[in-house]
Amino acid sequence: MLEPALLPTPLVDCTDEVFARAGVELRLKRDDLLHPSVPGNKWRKLAPNLAAAVAQGHTRLLTFGGAYSTHLRAVAAAAGALGLESVGLVRGEELADRPRNWSLRAAERAGMRLEFLTRAEYREATGRADAGTTAGPQGRWGHCLVLPEGGSNALAVTGAAAIPAELPDLGGHDVVCCPVGTGGTLAGIAAGLPPGARALGVAVLRGGEGYLEGEVTRLHRAAYGREFDNWRIDHAHHGGGYGKVPAELAAFAERFEARHGIPLERRYVAKLLAALTGLAAAGAFPRGTRLTAVVTGLPDPE
Ligand SMILES: *Cc1c(COP(=O)(O)O)cnc(C)c1O
Repeated sequence: MLEPALLPTPLVDCTDEVFARAGVELRLKRDDLLHPSVPGNKWRKLAPNLAAAVAQGHTRLLTFGGAYSTHLRAVAAAAGALGLESVGLVRGEELADRPRNWSLRAAERAGMRLEFLTRAEYREATGRADAGTTAGPQGRWGHCLVLPEGGSNALAVTGAAAIPAELPDLGGHDVVCCPVGTGGTLAGIAAGLPPGARALGVAVLRGGEGYLEGEVTRLHRAAYGREFDNWRIDHAHHGGGYGKVPAELAAFAERFEARHGIPLERRYVAKLLAALTGLAAAGAFPRGTRLTAVVTGLPDPE
């Protein structure tokens, strides 16, 4: 059995002078506290997929990820708890013969079988993820429910749409904010908002302009058959690229942790909060704006 989730996740006020000076209210939606083994937005996105897998009688999940993928660990933990098999196709064939890092070790301990692909094989396999399971490396694993890299598909978006549904009284002065990796979480938040409220995503990778907007739009079409115009993505706070944590960002995260007593995951959550702080200081939000930052995950254990 999968351990129960803490729902709704806590919503807490965050008093901070930068925001106060700008006349902006900041709240934190503590999705980092959602689940002990399937963290934050990974649980939001996986839950409806797992329910569908079980309902459709699937016995094996297959998905993709890099050497430190939180998504891989989350799928491994959830599948293990539900008595499903899981397969992880990992980017980087050179990892096959090396001692496992903590992340891949955790996935294997939860029961996931790993197969290591070259960059080219990986690109091809992820590109085909939606198209079926008969060709390429995933075909070797027989009948599987295939989840895309990062876990963002139409069902995942409907799972993330429950986040704004847990925020009472949203209106025209509200902006609900999250980091953007694949865009699934942002797509869900935007779709779940009531009229007037808006969503803001902060891209954590470099050079995502156009591509990430296209992904959010594609996911909206897949999940709801329509587009939404209540969201946008900030591309100016990626800190140099995916996984990069420049010294300035690390210092910001340490200050924030010391002041507010909340541990900050660095690759996504710290970037989001640093971006909001910078935007508020620069007067990017009208006075009276209420920001809700979704704390989408926990710091890595190592
Ligand atoms: C995976 C992850 C994200 C990225 O979410 P997307 O839906 O892929 O945009 C954001 N925050 C944390 C903490 C994550 O682990």
